[in-house]
Amino acid sequence: MIKLTGVAASAGIVIGKAYLLDITKLKVTKEKIPAEDIDKQINNFREAVSRTEKEIRKVKEKVHTEMGEEYANIFEAHLLVLKDPLLIFEVSERIKKEQINVEYALWEVLEMITENIADLDNEYMRERVVDIYDIGRRILENLVGGTGVDFQELKEDVIVIAHNLTPSDTAHMYKGKIIGFATDIGGQTSHTAIMARALEIPAVVGLRDITFRVKSDDTLIIDGGHGIVIIAPDEQTIQEYEHKKKLFDEFKVGLAWLRDLPGQTNDGYRIEIAANIELPQEVEVVKQEKAEGIGLYRTEFLYLERTELPDEDEQLEAYRQVVSQMNPYPVTIRTLDVGGDKFLSYLGIPIEVNPSLGLRAIRLCLKHKEMFKNQLRALFRASTFGKLRIMFPMISELDEIIQVKKIIEEVKQELKIEKVCFDPNIEIGVMIETPSAAMTADVLAGSVDFFSIGTNDLIQYTIAIDRVNEQLTHLYNPLHPAILRLINWTIESAHKQGIWVGMCGEMAGDPLFTMLLVGMGIDELSMSCGSISKVKEVIRSISLHEAKELAQKILKLQSALEIETMLNEVMYKRFAHILNRK
Ligand code: PEP
Ligand code: MG
Repeated sequence: MIKLTGVAASAGIVIGKAYLLDITKLKVTKEKIPAEDIDKQINNFREAVSRTEKEIRKVKEKVHTEMGEEYANIFEAHLLVLKDPLLIFEVSERIKKEQINVEYALWEVLEMITENIADLDNEYMRERVVDIYDIGRRILENLVGGTGVDFQELKEDVIVIAHNLTPSDTAHMYKGKIIGFATDIGGQTSHTAIMARALEIPAVVGLRDITFRVKSDDTLIIDGGHGIVIIAPDEQTIQEYEHKKKLFDEFKVGLAWLRDLPGQTNDGYRIEIAANIELPQEVEVVKQEKAEGIGLYRTEFLYLERTELPDEDEQLEAYRQVVSQMNPYPVTIRTLDVGGDKFLSYLGIPIEVNPSLGLRAIRLCLKHKEMFKNQLRALFRASTFGKLRIMFPMISELDEIIQVKKIIEEVKQELKIEKVCFDPNIEIGVMIETPSAAMTADVLAGSVDFFSIGTNDLIQYTIAIDRVNEQLTHLYNPLHPAILRLINWTIESAHKQGIWVGMCGEMAGDPLFTMLLVGMGIDELSMSCGSISKVKEVIRSISLHEAKELAQKILKLQSALEIETMLNEVMYKRFAHILNRK
């Protein structure tokens, strides 16, 4: 039995069989590339190889410390494959001669090498095929940022083990056979983790070397709330976790009575409790949980995992479905936010060195105006089916809002000329998720109807911590005084200008922060459905007055540690039953 600890990505306990993703399951499609892209493709390949090498060296060091030299040497074989000049040469040559995409060139070369080895009359060499597949899988996953596996083909319930999963990989797990997953890389607010929470799939990410430790069909326990994975558990451990699972499930059921009650403090102050969704199908659960609206619909999942842009009618259909099912509650639909950990390969956007600081979200949309207008047209057309709000991601200055509004006017004019109906009073809001937007919230508030604070990115950009990097999770701290000041300033500025302000980052769904946020005056909290009852339980047990007092005290503190100590003391005294149940 081996117990591993990683990053807690999605709460819940599952016990089941492992399904290790292997390269033979990767869907690699052949694409012709223009001649001017050849060098770029070769560079991408070299970068992916060097990233893979670094990862394997780290794993080797870790295994050396924990298990000794003999085991660590196993990774020498992997490093040898990586350093084989033939690999780099063959792949580069194929990209040049055949003008094909790097993923396909690598796939072909790996196939060729493994076929040659499999034909050899040598048991040892034949076993090396496994190493080559392993390495190939890692390089490919580093190239495409995920697996691209079709999970629908699975016949029985499994726990997926992968080096990395993309947010769209996770989206495909919807109602599938995947009961849990664990990955080598990833942080708590990566979109893969957020998606797992939305679909209530227990998950642990950032385990670094789990793909090297697990084989398909191994029995595993995933305790997603505590970031624990147990490989080949003994009978006693299985029983212990079955009991924990029962308690966890009972706890969830025990909070169900809160569904019919509003998010209201015991002195009558209302906070709108809304849900975050990524897929239209999630509305079913949102309605079950009786959320008072959708505070964030991440539309990018309509655009991912396909070969061309969704057209206006297809988008209209998705938005219409969500808006009409939620009517009369509001639905805040966020315009496309790709870039960062979400790729759109068909737009031909070059792979960036710093994708999180790159052509992401609104920046991409302003550059691809026709694509943006299509989405806006679909949104305006869907506005007649219920209460729709539009929200723009990653705004960093006023000028972007001015540009967006100009485009909105164009869209409205076009629709009017075409005699297409839309709601002329749609509320237009922006996400406050860059430090520059938060600091100029007083300026931005004059130009929009609402703000929604995106703490996932606000923390990433303010503390300069890559949100998907598992090495930095200890520094990713919502209680950093800079974050709290920015949140407070954003709320104050919004209220001064008479607009409301919500929060849709993961911080909104963590009951540890609820009292503090209420005390700072937040108007709406939007979260994954699994958090709604816990947050409501806190809101309904406190008064606005005491929440304000707590916020004032906390805002005077100077360090994250002091803040954490005070908040933990106050919250665990009263809400340990909620905070401990992960
Ligand atoms: C955020 O950044 O907090 C947010 C809600 O947006 P996303 O997680 O999709 O980047
Ligand atoms: Mg964001």
